Amino acid sequence: MGIIIKLMNVKKFYKQSRALNGVTLSMNEGEEYLIRGASGSGKSTLLYLLGGLDRPTEGEVHVNQKNLVDLSDEELALYRNRYVGFVFQFHFLLPSMNCLDNLLLPARLAGFGALESAEVKERVLNLANTLHVNHCLEKFPYELSGGEQQRINIIRALSLKPKLLLCDEPTGNLDSENSKIVIQLLRTLAREFHSTLVVVTHDPVIAESFSNQFLMKDGMLVLA
Ligand code: ADP
Ligand code: MG
Repeated sequence: MGIIIKLMNVKKFYKQSRALNGVTLSMNEGEEYLIRGASGSGKSTLLYLLGGLDRPTEGEVHVNQKNLVDLSDEELALYRNRYVGFVFQFHFLLPSMNCLDNLLLPARLAGFGALESAEVKERVLNLANTLHVNHCLEKFPYELSGGEQQRINIIRALSLKPKLLLCDEPTGNLDSENSKIVIQLLRTLAREFHSTLVVVTHDPVIAESFSNQFLMKDGMLVLA
């Protein structure tokens, strides 16, 4: 399998801090990666650059042989919608829509026609079945437990079969038993959808189970 992600000397500076201080790495298509490191070491910043949520101060971020730095804001938005699924510690479901509408939102934003939309809906309903959240679909996010909200969030992230599944502290507010379940779930689903999985965490227990690991310190990669 080929390289899907290649970062070259990536730097991200803020007024007060050097969040990334020259990161070079590559990742293979369809594999699982873990990025760990202390709080403030630059993990989230790295993930946001991979996901096209932000731009580097310096360096190159190649995904599928395209340098994200060269994309316009519109092209970057398209990239995020069609290529990337995000799972964050805190879900970002829209409070004014029920869960099913939240799940179908990425397809609507993509402007899918009837056929593709029907395909997405079927996928989303199947996932809701697998993750035991069928009973949540007609409800609004505030009517769900934290764990249910998070499973809805995971389904939404996978709704368009993303090439990249990027997870930032996905177990940040779960106990260790549920953390293990969620990580296992993310890995299984990423495999099923042939997505490259990148998980960011400061939790050493989660880190144990990943063979591909990057360790960050002060905005730089230290060999794991
Ligand atoms: P981690 O996810 O490993 O905890 P972050 O990537 O969030 O680390 O942050 C790395 C450094 O960059 C920290 O010092 C943080 O304060 C700083 N930083 C992150 N985002 C911003 C921002 N939007 N504005 C200013 N500083 C930021
Ligand atoms: Mg972070």
